[in-house]
Amino acid sequence: FNNELQRSEKMEIISELAASVAHEVRNPLQVTRGFIQLIAEKQERSDKVYLNMALEELDRASGIITDFLTFAKPEVGNVTTLDILEEFIHIEGILVPMANLQGGKITADIPNELYIVGNSSKFKQAFVNIIKNSIEALSDEGDIHLWAYEEKEQVCIHIKDNGEGMDEEVLARLGEPYFSNKTKGTGLGLMVTFRIIEVMNGKITFRSEKGIGTEVSIRFPAVKKS
Ligand code: ADP
Ligand code: MG
Repeated sequence: FNNELQRSEKMEIISELAASVAHEVRNPLQVTRGFIQLIAEKQERSDKVYLNMALEELDRASGIITDFLTFAKPEVGNVTTLDILEEFIHIEGILVPMANLQGGKITADIPNELYIVGNSSKFKQAFVNIIKNSIEALSDEGDIHLWAYEEKEQVCIHIKDNGEGMDEEVLARLGEPYFSNKTKGTGLGLMVTFRIIEVMNGKITFRSEKGIGTEVSIRFPAVKKS
């Protein structure tokens, strides 16, 4: 038992460290990206190939930080009563500009007084990863709709997009580490999301049709406000 305790303490220290490193590393990555892009614009063809590879690798590093550590905070293990509406107000603040860049719209219908128990940073990380995938799946006239309600002592949250959709082979592989169909994907987003939802005693299901869109449903045990 002694070993177990030490192990989880170590894990805690590692995740705290990872969280602060992520925040510190993101800025120099962006600055480096800017300089390399400047140099690339002035280069001959042959060197451009290497500079573009360097840019892609920098983007991959940023992608890993986004999928894992967007909301990572030093107080990793802190569990409280979460107000779903309040959480989604923060999540939308990050994602609406990202959706606008893709020419997509996000609409939400989330009532007051939906509560679950969990870690606020991790909850946000999980939903940012799900909604980011929806945004990345959109083409023109893209729409993402979020809604939530309580049913049978569970808080149900739905995210529906009219993006490219998935066939059964892709659906079966969701959450597998490094499974990605994107040139700049990490294939880590849903792995992290599934893990967070599981830890929070939640369930996640995907319904999708190629060329039509995707609906993600997540349920958590509901609690009363404390
Ligand atoms: P990444 O986004 O880095 O590729 P994820 O784990 O977030 O990794 O997603 C894995 C794959 O699942 C994506 O590459 C994509 O093919 C598929 N996917 C996930 N969500 C959606 C969605 N809403 N619409 C279409 N495809 C999706
Ligand atoms: Mg993703």
